[in-house]
Amino acid sequence: MTLYQSPISPGRSWYEDSCGERPHYPQLDDNRHCDVVIVGGGFCGLSCALHLASNGVDVVVLEAHRLGDGASGRNGGQIGSGHRAGVLELEHELGFERSKALWDLAQDAKKALIETAENHGFETDYQPGQLTPLHRRRFEKETQAEVAALHDRYGYEEIGFLHRDAMAEALGSRAYYGGTRDNGTGHIHPMKYLIGLGKAVSAAGASVFEETPATKITGGPKISIETPRGTITADRCLLAMNGYHNDMRAELASHVMPIQSFIGATVPLEADTSVLPNGEAVDDSRFVVRYFRKSKDNRLLFGGREAYGSAAPGNIRRTIRKQITEIYPQLADIELTHAWGGNVAITMPRHPYVRELENGLWTAGGFSGHGVMLSNYTGRMIAQNFLGQSEQIKLLQDLEIKPFPGGSTFRNPLKILALTWYAMLDRI
Ligand SMILES: Cc1cc2nc3c(=O)[nH]c(=O)nc-3n(C[C@H](O)[C@H](O)[C@H](O)COP(=O)(O)OP(=O)(O)OC[C@H]3O[C@@H](n4cnc5c(N)ncnc54)[C@H](O)[C@@H]3O)c2cc1C
Repeated sequence: MTLYQSPISPGRSWYEDSCGERPHYPQLDDNRHCDVVIVGGGFCGLSCALHLASNGVDVVVLEAHRLGDGASGRNGGQIGSGHRAGVLELEHELGFERSKALWDLAQDAKKALIETAENHGFETDYQPGQLTPLHRRRFEKETQAEVAALHDRYGYEEIGFLHRDAMAEALGSRAYYGGTRDNGTGHIHPMKYLIGLGKAVSAAGASVFEETPATKITGGPKISIETPRGTITADRCLLAMNGYHNDMRAELASHVMPIQSFIGATVPLEADTSVLPNGEAVDDSRFVVRYFRKSKDNRLLFGGREAYGSAAPGNIRRTIRKQITEIYPQLADIELTHAWGGNVAITMPRHPYVRELENGLWTAGGFSGHGVMLSNYTGRMIAQNFLGQSEQIKLLQDLEIKPFPGGSTFRNPLKILALTWYAMLDRI
């Protein structure tokens, strides 16, 4: 039997081999009218659909491939806390009040993520804890200041600073200096979450279509989305294509940039391994973040190496193994059973890009590697806005997102230059 291989991943993920039954949804092959059409069947699109359909709205979801083929089904699974930028950076940029409101929003997002799975009864393989070890000693002071701010001004006590020895014990490695342990978050099996969400959306009455790419989007009093075998017209639309928008709209091309990130999975480690004895997830302090964790069946899932060109590399395994060995030399020869990748969507300031582009035509994306909880919650906040239930989404809409420089010709080469520069800074 040939196993399904996502056309937008360089390899089959371990998640696809451990997620259980993955339902197929039909292709669209007629013309339809609905209240809201959602383009993109990742966390953001599905979460918006779930909230709308649960409130009686007629919703259609269009996914170009299969649900979970995008970033949502193949990411590092780390929920995190707050935003991609720390609270001190946000205070500097936006002032305390907006920074606090954004922090509270992220806390709501975490809670909603877990509650949605509980309410709809699906499995997520949730495991608690996240470590953020520092790859340079010079970051220790500012990290301690960040922890103090979280305790004193944000009322968040679940995070603490670990000195180097305590961090080494928690990691099972002396490759890092100190850093933080956050007990108020954790990590999940993203494909299990995505599948559960998809089933909940369908059970709530939304129509979900797979292998149905939107090929043309036209705004107007009625929004029209063309697909190869049918057109949807709707009063409202959410474009939730994130790092897979393929420049379909000029605003997305200039504000939301895809970069690839890769993950490798090892065979299960020995039960008494010294690697991450308490099972936390790890995201380190590099700009080109290395992120890793153990799965429920004790494999090391290790992510890193953001490639800035568009070509998928054939050497993910070799690169991932090298990075694993730098941290865990004892795993130098461990077998990697899976290696895969996906598009992380970034914006200039690394805040999400959430806008109403035209009357009723919304977009959300660019979660900058921090979208497990935020993309889910953003979809829900947009649904709440459509329903007149909440204006919380304005906090994200109001964030200034400058376009990437360089216009359509130079944007990509400039991105590669800039990110190569940051990767180099990680090394000094
Ligand atoms: C390798 C990797 C590791 C990551 N690790 C983490 C992590 O540990 N923690 C974290 O918080 N975040 C992480 N992220 C980011 C996180 O996965 C994303 O922010 C989040 O999943 C975004 O969800 P989304 O719904 O916006 O986009 P996606 O899940 O990418 O969904 C977009 C969907 O739109 C579909 N689409 C695109 N164009 C069309 C079209 N024309 N018609 C129909 N459908 C279309 C795509 O096929 C895709 O399925 C990671 C991402 C990657 C790739």
